[in-house]
Amino acid sequence: SKPKDGCMIENNPLNKINKVIGVMSGKGGVGKSTVSVLIAKGLRKKGYKVGILDADITGPSIPRLLDIKDAEVESTENFLYPVETEDGIKVMSFNLLMEDENQPVIWRGPIISATVKQFWTDVLWDELDYLIIDMPPGTGDVALTVMDSIPINGLVMVSIPQDMVSMIVAKAVNMARKMNISIIGVIQNMSYVLCPNCNEKIKIYDTENINKFLEDMNLKLLGEIPMVKEISNISNNSYGESDKIIDKIFNPILENITKAI
Ligand code: ADP
Repeated sequence: SKPKDGCMIENNPLNKINKVIGVMSGKGGVGKSTVSVLIAKGLRKKGYKVGILDADITGPSIPRLLDIKDAEVESTENFLYPVETEDGIKVMSFNLLMEDENQPVIWRGPIISATVKQFWTDVLWDELDYLIIDMPPGTGDVALTVMDSIPINGLVMVSIPQDMVSMIVAKAVNMARKMNISIIGVIQNMSYVLCPNCNEKIKIYDTENINKFLEDMNLKLLGEIPMVKEISNISNNSYGESDKIIDKIFNPILENITKAI
């Protein structure tokens, strides 16, 4: 990726990263990390070289979702080496640097921001087709740092239906637009419940207001993800039946993402 003007930090010349996808949400707990993992796993399955940069410092759940929480990061004087999952996804996360994943990161903003920048400059990602950045939720300091310093090709916004019509998503969208980062679109997570017997989609929220919101904000709906057990346990179901369900639901969304960047 070519660095933009302004505050962009330098690319590490040893890394060749083709596309950077940021995954953002207006607030925590809406499935941003889950979607980051689905994107990464989906792209990896298609044979792409994929990495995840976990910039969600206060809730760094990527290592747990990918079953690598006990892995240790190797480093030399100049570089940090990402941890690789069994299926070959490269990962860097605050949690991989902490001795105990239950301990909070009690660092102040500037130190956290500097560390996130290091995840871009000092991690030896090597060659990647896609780097997925799991952004911190909301519009705070660290989200700003990521947008300001890493050349993101496109942002995927993750939201639950009831937040779409409040200012929560609008704020995050407006922040990205002010920073001149293109938004690929919105994924509506926990959008409906899928009946396990008859496969009927049971919608709980009014979609009319949501469609109006998307239109008003000029946002593309990339797809909807149901609230299902298979997705709540993605860390435990890398293989088998449940993988197929995820594939079926997520592949069309993934196609919408890759087509757009
Ligand atoms: P965030 O990164 O936005 O904080 P997470 O990805 O950690 O959110 O998801 C929050 C919780 O909701 C997790 O326990 C996750 O397993 C669950 N979850 C997310 N999406 C779904 C879904 N579509 N169906 C069922 N559970 C989900």
